[in-house]
Amino acid sequence: MSYEHLQDPNAEYTMRDLSAETMGLSRPRSEGRDVEITDVQTAIVDGNYPWTLVRVYTDDGRVGNGEAYWGGAIPEIIERLKPFVVGENPLDIDRLYEHMVQKMSGEGSIAGKDIAAISGVELALHDVAGKILDVPAYQLLGGKYRDEVRTYCDCHTEEEADPDACADEAERVVDDLGYDALKFDLDVPSGHEKDRANRHLRGPEIEHKAEIVEKVTDRVGDKADVAFDCHWAFTAGSAKRLARRLERYDVWWLEDPVPPENHDVQREVTQSTGTPIAVGENVYRTHGQRRLLTEQAADIVAPDVPKVGGMRETAKIATLADMFYVPVAMHNVSSPIGTMASAHVGAAIPNSLALEYHSYELGWWEDLVEEDGLIQDGYMAIPEEPGLGLTLDLDAVEAHLADGETLFDEA
Ligand SMILES: [Mg+2]
Repeated sequence: MSYEHLQDPNAEYTMRDLSAETMGLSRPRSEGRDVEITDVQTAIVDGNYPWTLVRVYTDDGRVGNGEAYWGGAIPEIIERLKPFVVGENPLDIDRLYEHMVQKMSGEGSIAGKDIAAISGVELALHDVAGKILDVPAYQLLGGKYRDEVRTYCDCHTEEEADPDACADEAERVVDDLGYDALKFDLDVPSGHEKDRANRHLRGPEIEHKAEIVEKVTDRVGDKADVAFDCHWAFTAGSAKRLARRLERYDVWWLEDPVPPENHDVQREVTQSTGTPIAVGENVYRTHGQRRLLTEQAADIVAPDVPKVGGMRETAKIATLADMFYVPVAMHNVSSPIGTMASAHVGAAIPNSLALEYHSYELGWWEDLVEEDGLIQDGYMAIPEEPGLGLTLDLDAVEAHLADGETLFDEA
């Protein structure tokens, strides 16, 4: 069975169609702005996540780099998106985003992998649009609030359940690497568990987590903000007990203490405690974040730019968050491309709290681009070069390709 009829942008029975042709967009633009997308390609790099790089090519010889959140089938979905953007003007970022979402609606584009794939193209559109207009990507988002975006270092130790080892690593990352913002996992085994499945935290487990928080914040609390991530692990009651137990410490935020599906529970947990609760890396688009904000179920929201819908979608989420006086701490596990795209968003929104950096142990994260010194003492300076301001080092990309992947076909 061929599905080509579902991808024909001119098919008579297509639903709401936002292609330039259907919309009747034919008025010439000023010099140099009548550009068409000719191709979209992907290549997966074997980083500490399978970083899915996305390239958008145009008929004036420009290339835009983007990145989609990692995961199986993302390149295949991007292949399905291609007919909706090839032939289109990459400067119409908003319309092309809505066009892709609409065209993929039958495949589930309210959330999930479709939106991650669309995000990858959306990031690349910002890069190539910036290059066409000769402006940095933050300029496309309305200009900047800050020259540098604060990052926080997601920290790990071999002995993740040892409070002293966590405190030692916190001290090393602050003193040696220069970060003034950190995050540690709190969903680590304590040795007091009786059942791995029921999500309940026994008293000794809560005390073990409190000991990690106490030792880390005692050690670096005067020099750094420290957040703690629970990865959706606990029952509603356990999350409330844990959050209340941590109120005596200076916790930057407690992240995802309960599973993400039941919004009512999330709101109840957040409103039950003075410990700031961050959520939002596992929901998609502004719609996914809407009730977290309008029902005051989050103290901090954590959209992931290459996953949630892209740069403009994250800026829209930030606007909604700002109406509820909520800051944005962007989740991020990306290569330099997705990270820099997130940093441009962080520069352009008023309520940016911090951007995650998740690759400090990798050693070659920055090798993927020709620029270096991307993160200095925990801060990312926003480049003035057009687009995202990064140039992929294709030799480095090729050297780190995931098994079975091939470099972009530039022909
Ligand atoms: Mg998290």
